[in-house]
Amino acid sequence: MSDLVTLTRDGEIGIITVNNPPVNALSPGVPEGISAAIEEVTKDDSIKGAILIGSGQTFIAGADIKEFGKVTSGERKEGIDFLGVLLAIEDCSKPVVAAIHGTAFGGGLEVAMAFHYRVAIASAQVGQPEVKLGLIPGAAGTQRLPRLAGVAKAVQMCADGNPVKASEALAAGIIDAVVDGVDAAALQQGAVEFLRGKLAAGEKPRKTRERNEKLGDEASNGPIFAAAREMAKKAARGMMAPQAAIDAVEAATRLSFAEGCAREAELFKQCLFSDQSKALIHVFFGEREVSKIPDVPKDTPLIDIKSAAIVGAGTMGGGIAMNYANAGIPVLLKETTQEALDKGMATIRRNYENSVKKGRFSQEVMDKRMALITPTLSWAGFETADIVTEAVFEGMALKKEIFAELDRICKPGAILASNTSTLDVDEIASATSRPEYVIGHHYFSPANVMRLLEIVRGKATNKQVIATSMALARRLKKIGVLVGNCYGFVGNRMLHQYGREAQFLVEEGAKPQEVDAALYKFGMAMGPLAVGDLAGLDVGWRIRKEHAHLEKPGVRKPLVADQLCERGRYGQKTGAGWYRYDENRKPIPDAEVDQLIEELAAQAGIRRRTITEEEIIERTQYALINEGAKILEEGIALRAVDIDIVYLNGYGYPAWRGGPMWYADTVGLKKVYDRVCRFHEEHGELWTPAPLLRRLAEEGKSFAQYDKKS
Ligand code: NAD
Repeated sequence: MSDLVTLTRDGEIGIITVNNPPVNALSPGVPEGISAAIEEVTKDDSIKGAILIGSGQTFIAGADIKEFGKVTSGERKEGIDFLGVLLAIEDCSKPVVAAIHGTAFGGGLEVAMAFHYRVAIASAQVGQPEVKLGLIPGAAGTQRLPRLAGVAKAVQMCADGNPVKASEALAAGIIDAVVDGVDAAALQQGAVEFLRGKLAAGEKPRKTRERNEKLGDEASNGPIFAAAREMAKKAARGMMAPQAAIDAVEAATRLSFAEGCAREAELFKQCLFSDQSKALIHVFFGEREVSKIPDVPKDTPLIDIKSAAIVGAGTMGGGIAMNYANAGIPVLLKETTQEALDKGMATIRRNYENSVKKGRFSQEVMDKRMALITPTLSWAGFETADIVTEAVFEGMALKKEIFAELDRICKPGAILASNTSTLDVDEIASATSRPEYVIGHHYFSPANVMRLLEIVRGKATNKQVIATSMALARRLKKIGVLVGNCYGFVGNRMLHQYGREAQFLVEEGAKPQEVDAALYKFGMAMGPLAVGDLAGLDVGWRIRKEHAHLEKPGVRKPLVADQLCERGRYGQKTGAGWYRYDENRKPIPDAEVDQLIEELAAQAGIRRRTITEEEIIERTQYALINEGAKILEEGIALRAVDIDIVYLNGYGYPAWRGGPMWYADTVGLKKVYDRVCRFHEEHGELWTPAPLLRRLAEEGKSFAQYDKKS
């Protein structure tokens, strides 16, 4: 037996312990170790039964995710017969008990279900989260779970992938007892007592795979599967794994255990080798990767953030204040007028009340959070804040005025952050005597909901401020991505190109609803024109008017959005934009808009034609990708995967496509580059190919390979 799995004894009970820190993943050697321990338990007459427990904080938390990539890339041949190991556990002639603390997810739960009994401490969780990586359980999870939990519960757990608490698992029959105690030692003792009880009662091993009484029949199962498929279609739009998971659980109800396992294996393989699963695994590792900043060492000392302050209690300031309060950090919220302050606080209160109504947390939690937010009209208290975030109107003069004031008031070493979405962070910093403490914290609306935080590094920002900002993002339950200082940073700079193409397509002959439908079908949370209506078309219109003097003559620019605004069509807020909206805010295509588009196109001499769905996808996606490649080459993003994480968490990009840069890799950079060149010929300089895209395409490389090298 290896060090990964040990067998010790507590009297007549064998204690099998998995020691594979940090989470006891099922890396190579772990299944083999468990198998050897079970063999030993069978052989040793002094052992009457055994328990399996994880060392440290958890049971087997799941598969070793790195292994999936090794299998699909051909680096590793398929490993040991894991299904066989589980059968051998189940066939053990002596009773065996899985003792669960922490999490038993995925392969961890599959192992536990092959044991004759399962006990857990109250804080433990179990689940089959494979769908979140585009996979399904691959070691009989879809076959054993319905036998323990019944078909409805099993299909739900395998299709949505969400974890289940110990009490719920007990009620469902997944575990047999919840034992007292909070740690591994108490769990071990409880599990041993449980097993001794079973031995004393003379109970024989009980094989999960032979327990068919919860499998139901065709008549009772039909509606369960139909409802699950409908639900997955909506909740996991475009994803194949949830549907495959449902098929596999259905197989458990129709086939023998062995045949069901064979069907599950077939479906598992399809998922494992799919682009979707590869993309989701890329995202899983990407979320960890973005926290690595080459020139900011991991051990950079952090600034202790014990208190915060926000300037501006509008749409963004209020949401940002909630983030701090949710993390238990007291926060001052400053406005210029009592009216604006009251309005901001009322919005915060309403948001929290909605969460309480929906049962997300209790009134008590809400009261605590509200008490952490102190509304104010003065600067008093700012002198002790460890971090100040400015979220006033977007205007350089105003921002500089505020930063000059903060420079006078704030203590040395306090972080001064701006939530600007377009302005130059260095210029803002120049209003202070300490540009090294100035940084951009670009939240996304609604700031209390959206997970992305673009952290904008100015040329003087010091490493401590960067490291603290990244750590703070985690504390605020955000995903922080470090980006460089340029107009629009990463996300909005790319979005600009994407939105531009969406509008050009409309001018060239596609209907707004066709553009939106194609991108929705592609997997985007919303089509770009509907997003414009939601955010308000007037925002961009005002910015364009202000920057009109910077426009390059002769370069094509979108015509329709500004004209919609001229007609008072600002989007949802005025009941009309690209669409008309009914009282339920349902978008309705509008003949008036079609007519306006045709007129503007005719005036500009644009030839209208039929536009295919394929062209809509290529024009919009490749515009994102081409700009992304420029951003990457300029060092505005550290890696291609950083761009992907920005898009997935801030822009409703479908995770199963892996983000725009990963999507480009799946299409193939040669094809993307060739199309960009064609668009360049057809549409002119806005499509100038990014030199990096060209280089990678010519070298037959991918963005993922570029990331590995950089
Ligand atoms: P908003 O108009 O909703 O709020 C701005 C608030 O700042 C107002 O309540 C105003 O009274 C207050 N304010 C103005 N001057 C002030 C001062 N001197 N002291 C204190 N308060 C003052 O605007 P918003 O949408 O919250 O945008 C704020 C910032 O966030 C802007 O820089 C914007 O570009 C950026 N941003 C906005 C979004 C978005 O989607 N709305 C997303 C990301 C970033």
